[in-house]
Amino acid sequence: MKVLKFGGTSVGSAARMKDVAKLICDGEQKIVVLSAMSGTTNSLVEISDYFYKTNTSGALERINALEQKYNDVVAELYSNTECKAEAKKVLKSHFEYLRSFSKSVFTLFEEKAILAEGEMLSTTMFQLYLNEIGESSALLPALEYMRIDKNSEPDTLYIAENLPKQLAAQPDKMIYITQGFICRNFYGEIDNLQRGGSDYSASLIGAAINASEIQIWTDIDGMHNNDPRIVEGTKPVPVLHFEEAAELAYFGAKILHPTCILPAKLNNIPVRLLNTMEPSAHGTLISNQSKKGVIEAVAAKDGITAIKIKSGRMLLAHGFLRKVFEIFESHHTPIDMVTTSEVGVSVSIDNAKKLDEIVNDLKKFGTVTVDKDMVIICVVGDMPFENVGFQAKVVNALSEIPVRMISYGGSNYNISFLIKADDKKRALNALSQALFN
Ligand code: ADP
Ligand code: ASP
Ligand code: MG
Repeated sequence: MKVLKFGGTSVGSAARMKDVAKLICDGEQKIVVLSAMSGTTNSLVEISDYFYKTNTSGALERINALEQKYNDVVAELYSNTECKAEAKKVLKSHFEYLRSFSKSVFTLFEEKAILAEGEMLSTTMFQLYLNEIGESSALLPALEYMRIDKNSEPDTLYIAENLPKQLAAQPDKMIYITQGFICRNFYGEIDNLQRGGSDYSASLIGAAINASEIQIWTDIDGMHNNDPRIVEGTKPVPVLHFEEAAELAYFGAKILHPTCILPAKLNNIPVRLLNTMEPSAHGTLISNQSKKGVIEAVAAKDGITAIKIKSGRMLLAHGFLRKVFEIFESHHTPIDMVTTSEVGVSVSIDNAKKLDEIVNDLKKFGTVTVDKDMVIICVVGDMPFENVGFQAKVVNALSEIPVRMISYGGSNYNISFLIKADDKKRALNALSQALFN
């Protein structure tokens, strides 16, 4: 069975939902994972923000505006009066539920329950539409099988045990619709897989049922060779290795959630990135095959902080790096890039919440310098070290840009640069020019 995930834009209006229905009703049994309609999760975040600030009227105003939007979709999506009435009833109960938070204390727990409403709405409305057009379908409630553990990692055993139970409870349906993004946590509370996490849902589901393919349907024809929001004339990359796709997703290619590749890779399930607006386009096929010796794409990760520790006391003496890394570990802060020399070590982090504490602790070991507002530029392709000349090509492309750190050798698939955020656009364009034109 295949798993098909449709993102926010792909289900962003009544017309788009109808297109998705046409696309998926082909006589093959499948699981369809839906995101919230585009803009909804952002609205729910905003509503929560008003509740946090105890501005109930602000929250209610936003809820009313969102409800109006959904009423308009319902008016356009269904033609049958019974279905329309049923959909209105569903909307009413969900929006009443949202309003009910004005009466309670507002914490992260309530916020997560509110954020889950986007996917609850899109899946219920879509399934009702499939009913209306006479397609055999069922809803698989994600909150009954998708779970994260104490460390907020997916509980893959639980998912693999409980998803098949949900499927077996409603046998012989052609289309199983389920919510992306949402899950329960270790304590049984409603939680989520972080923003953009519907891609992750799809690959966890694919892994749990050993799917033949995971398809991520979105608003662009695959993984492009550079960020299309910043560089003009980018092109889709037809084939990527799991490792290449994972690097690109982790280092900022928004088309994929950073962790989405791992479950697919571990189970060797191909992932296809496809365009809902152009279903016949080839898109990108991600598998354990790669094109040899080719630089495929570039991505950028924003919001990076670089920290340099310079030490007179024998930096590379054994145990020094361990002590440095332990400080980051004790502050639950992952490190992205590392570069070393005899007198110092530089690392980059993307979560600077504990920066002051980290810097304070590092000062025991040397002089500490911090550079904020940095960006990691990541060049991805099949680049084993025997493949002479690719570093020169990449470094030459950046000859006009000040580079704070360079990292290669962690894998054969990635060479990364740390530069100032102000230089990001120039760097991405220069790389496209040199590598892909
Ligand atoms: P969805 O709502 O379907 O999950 P997203 O907005 O999360 O879609 O991801 C698709 C968007 O990712 C595209 O519209 C595009 O602007 C952006 N994007 C950023 N980098 C890339 C890239 N390298 N290739 C393709 N799309 C990219
Ligand atoms: N609706 C969620 C979000 O906007 C999850 C997703 O779209 O993947 O982040
Ligand atoms: Mg997305």
